[in-house]
Amino acid sequence: MERIEAGRAHCALCGEVIRPGEDAMVTPDFLADEADPLWRFADAAMHRACFLVWDRRKAFIARYNQVARRLAATGGSYPRMTSEGDIVHEPMS
Ligand SMILES: [Zn+2]
Repeated sequence: MERIEAGRAHCALCGEVIRPGEDAMVTPDFLADEADPLWRFADAAMHRACFLVWDRRKAFIARYNQVARRLAATGGSYPRMTSEGDIVHEPMS
């Protein structure tokens, strides 16, 4: 995950300002459909602690991984989101 510029963003999950030094992240911008219930959580800043206890975390990660696989270039690697919210690149199998 990209690091956010601390102090400028609000957490999409708890709504609090993300303070400098807090462990926070920005989710990938991967959903184009505004009607999607997960849309507002894509390309959004959030505390990592909030992400880890988010009740829709598993659904969000599964959706990201599904989209990433579909968008991946042929050959090479595709990005995968871990349960901690990190993006890792894995070789195509
Ligand atoms: Zn938060």
